[in-house]
Amino acid sequence: MRAAIETGQPLILFRKEVANYYTPVMPVYVVDDYPEERTFVVALDEAFRYMGDVRDLSEPQREYARRLAKQRLHQPAFRTRVLLAYETRCAVCSLRHGSLLDAAHIVPDGDPLGTPTTPNGLALCKIHHAAYDHDMLGVTPDYEVRIDLEVLEEIDGPMLEHGIQAMHGRRLELPRKPADRPSRDLLAWRWERFTAGAREVR
Ligand SMILES: [Zn+2]
Repeated sequence: MRAAIETGQPLILFRKEVANYYTPVMPVYVVDDYPEERTFVVALDEAFRYMGDVRDLSEPQREYARRLAKQRLHQPAFRTRVLLAYETRCAVCSLRHGSLLDAAHIVPDGDPLGTPTTPNGLALCKIHHAAYDHDMLGVTPDYEVRIDLEVLEEIDGPMLEHGIQAMHGRRLELPRKPADRPSRDLLAWRWERFTAGAREVR
């Protein structure tokens, strides 16, 4: 670790989420050493190597550090926890390819309720994540999938028919652990936004 401070060599941080599951975060930089406390300070950006005493940052530097932590640490950890809770499966269509899955926020990131926690998350495949974010697909507080009426009546190719329209009325596949399931209150918040949209819902 001390050699990494001297050389500026980037490292990979493995953040433990649950037993045997880690979120890799890279590159990270060791920027300070407190031998009396047996701790090192690890930074998510090389810029912190040049900021002097990292325990005494200015407010703009602190704000930058917070933003960086959100993007580089909390969002990847959110993905790991949500995908684990849903056993690497899309909650809408059951697709099991991890590389095609995302952790979607129920209440978006920018809202104070939009925390990166499993009750505010849904494991969704790329297409259902995008459809959810664009309010083409909604989820009721009772865990049922609804497709926007206009989209339901469109005529298009097999992706629309089998990938989206056929999901109408399906029940979400939920995590086994009740504590990991999506919050009904947060789903209700999002459902209200979905139904308030310009499109109609059946
Ligand atoms: Zn899906």
